[in-house]
Amino acid sequence: MAQTPKKTPLRKCVGCGEMRPKQQLIRVVRCVDGTIKLDRTGKMNGRGAYICEQPQCFAKCRKQKRLDKAFGTAVADEIYEQLERAVASDAE
Ligand SMILES: [Zn+2]
Repeated sequence: MAQTPKKTPLRKCVGCGEMRPKQQLIRVVRCVDGTIKLDRTGKMNGRGAYICEQPQCFAKCRKQKRLDKAFGTAVADEIYEQLERAVASDAE
């Protein structure tokens, strides 16, 4: 058996495109029923997209509708607004 070192899983930010430890990112999830939510626990089932807690990453993501692209579906403004608040509240 090959050794599998226990490493922090890395995820790609939809804003800057950099790989970062999952814990440093905000997860957005598309649930199996198609609803899109912010997932602050990181444990919801569904397809996830990740973004840094950085206003500049959010700005890029929103401007270019990167979440829509990540999920292959239209993401409501409300979700971007929730994300904006999450980013703002964490960036202190
Ligand atoms: Zn980023």
